[in-house]
Amino acid sequence: MADILQKLVFSVDLEDWFHGIELPFTQWSTYDRRLERGFYAIFNLLESHHVKATWFTLGWVAQHYPDFIKALHQAGHELASHTYSHEKVYNLTPAQFREEIKKTKNLIEDLTGKPIIAHRSPFFSITAKSLWALDILAEEGFKIDCSISPVKTWRYGISTCPDSIFQIQENKIIEFPVSRFHFLNKNWGIGGAYFRLFPYSFTCSGIKKRQKSKLPTIFYIHPWEYDPEHPKIKLHWKAKITHYTHLRKTYPRTERLIKEFEFVTLSNYISEYVKQYPLTTVRMQDLQD
Ligand SMILES: [Zn+2]
Repeated sequence: MADILQKLVFSVDLEDWFHGIELPFTQWSTYDRRLERGFYAIFNLLESHHVKATWFTLGWVAQHYPDFIKALHQAGHELASHTYSHEKVYNLTPAQFREEIKKTKNLIEDLTGKPIIAHRSPFFSITAKSLWALDILAEEGFKIDCSISPVKTWRYGISTCPDSIFQIQENKIIEFPVSRFHFLNKNWGIGGAYFRLFPYSFTCSGIKKRQKSKLPTIFYIHPWEYDPEHPKIKLHWKAKITHYTHLRKTYPRTERLIKEFEFVTLSNYISEYVKQYPLTTVRMQDLQD
């Protein structure tokens, strides 16, 4: 059996440009919708290279673009949850979070007829202060979560988070955290702004370092990163840099990436991984800042 660590997960957070920045839900209807531009760019690119991805989908997107969800499902991609309103988990109450994931799960399942088992929170916002969300995910039928980042930033991160796939002892959720690598005394992620801000070779060497260290890797990206013409909104400088820098590089770099590495969906990756490697168990109390 081929070593699963030689493969990667390709994940897309399926949302429009105005979801990827902190703009209030009540204002969403006032922004120009452009999801089809980024969606078709990445969907067609993946399809032309026979890559199947996992799409963490906003409930709002499932509601407004049901044809995208059906097309993804029919083409053999995996659908997963990204909450309904893109609010950070640590800004929600447990009851609100439950409502967000239930609504999203139902919307997607009604379109595909297939159970949703994986989730990623907006802005990787399961942090030390919102670990309760993992219990709620388990209670609502989720098996896999990708909401924790071992890279600490101004928005997210848990510094004691393991660098590999692990299982939460209390609720059995399998966590596939953000993939990181060490360079110049700092930690960097694989995907998103990290993929655009620095040259292709930066991410590529990070992936190879992880493969050499026997660590699993998940790549993440958003449709709006394939739409360089999307509106420029006045933002805090940090958000501006991570959202708008080098958007024209995303497409050609992604094409290089999928030619160079082999990708599978998250569920397929996890089922192979647990056959090939022992799953570390972590207690929630050990996930602290
Ligand atoms: Zn998102």
